[in-house]
Amino acid sequence: LPQVVIIGRPNVGKSTLFNRLVGKKLALVDDQPGVTRDRRFGDVELLGLKFQIVDTAGWEDEDAETLPGRMRQQTEAALVGAAAALFVIDSRAGLTPLDEEIARWLQRTSVPVTVVANKAEGKAGDSGIFESYALGLGDPVAMSAEHGEGVADLFEALLPILDPLQPDEHAVELGEDEEKPLGPLQLAIVGRPNAGKSTLINQLLREDRLLTGPEAGITRDSIAIDWVWHDPKLGEDRRVKLIDTAGMRKRAKVTDKLEKLAVADARHAVDFAEVVVLLLDATKGLEHQDLKIAAHVVEEGRALIVAINKWDVAEDPSGLFNGIRHALDEGLAQVKGVPLVAVSARTGKGLDNLLGAAFETRDIWNRRVPTAALNRWFDDAMAANPPPAPGGKRIKLRYITQTGARPPRFVIFGTRLDDLPASYERYLVNSMRRDLGFGSVPVRIMLRSPKN
Ligand code: GDP
Repeated sequence: LPQVVIIGRPNVGKSTLFNRLVGKKLALVDDQPGVTRDRRFGDVELLGLKFQIVDTAGWEDEDAETLPGRMRQQTEAALVGAAAALFVIDSRAGLTPLDEEIARWLQRTSVPVTVVANKAEGKAGDSGIFESYALGLGDPVAMSAEHGEGVADLFEALLPILDPLQPDEHAVELGEDEEKPLGPLQLAIVGRPNAGKSTLINQLLREDRLLTGPEAGITRDSIAIDWVWHDPKLGEDRRVKLIDTAGMRKRAKVTDKLEKLAVADARHAVDFAEVVVLLLDATKGLEHQDLKIAAHVVEEGRALIVAINKWDVAEDPSGLFNGIRHALDEGLAQVKGVPLVAVSARTGKGLDNLLGAAFETRDIWNRRVPTAALNRWFDDAMAANPPPAPGGKRIKLRYITQTGARPPRFVIFGTRLDDLPASYERYLVNSMRRDLGFGSVPVRIMLRSPKN
């Protein structure tokens, strides 16, 4: 059975949760002295989900001075081999420094952690539930172990972790929320056939490794090319992983029509890339198909940059640029102001601008705003333009927190959220882009009313 470990400081309700999950069945107590003392094991069947639960109890008598060190030892020992961890906090008491310290240990473990905001019955737990987002461990599950509330939510949180047959929303290829140091820029170039993708990659690499020409798109086998770009502004080398979607297609031996393939390429690209460059052909302008590809990239939450290629042969360049700018802002309103760069893959003009924009966009796509700063902005935005009061009852928005990056994701808590008009949500997103520098990367906002 997969093991699920309960972790938390004294008196948050770990044993109550353990007993709630194990039910009437007898719990085995392993009280060997030393590091692994006082662990209790019990078998759980939660709505058909079977696992063994481990309680790292027994801190209550511990000296407050030595508690953190000993807890850490125990916790780390208990996490070895565990499939999941439940980090229990007391949502009535709110977060304590020890909770925050435990959260920092847990942020470093590879074991998936679910925050359980316990003692959440009634309204007294609301603020603790909000606070627990700041632990940086994802959405908390609000529970009352004592009253048996929130068990279904716990099940939902554990299901994707423990049951590999279930599609796992959390297993994003790029590693979701972790604040990893940024590695090489994972960059894909997509666009319709003959937009100049292969020529662009050749020009970037400055060697003729890819075939170009009428037999569009047949390039190479490998799916990524590691490469170093010299950033003239920073005066330093920066690593880039060029994702070669055409190469992937060749591998997959797709036999679709070429136009369809452009869309298929974009699908592959978003699976592997952080930033996707949509390459347009200056002699063709922006077509419906291009918008379709762009929309897909944005829907999948990747950072988009649009480049107009073949600038060397563009007629009426400024008219063309403004026309495309306008059409993009109309057709892709969700990322108004998306970076637009003019390039010539043939001559190499504009390519440093393109790479510079790609790195900059990735930084924004990775940005996290601390909760305090975010809520200062939030209060200001609501003061400048208060939420509406349909039927005379004002919608209350109380608190915002960033739950993730890549792309930036936020949760807003409040009441009567079903009545919040989409226009007000757009207002918030737009002022967030402007005031907090999120530019035009995709931004996700979720609205939540606290449970119970
Ligand atoms: P792909 O299908 O997107 O990979 O397009 P290719 O790279 O094969 O290029 C299609 C055609 O456009 C080729 O004949 C290229 O020589 C030409 N081309 C690509 N980039 C440029 C450019 O910047 N300027 C001009 N004038 N032609 C280009």
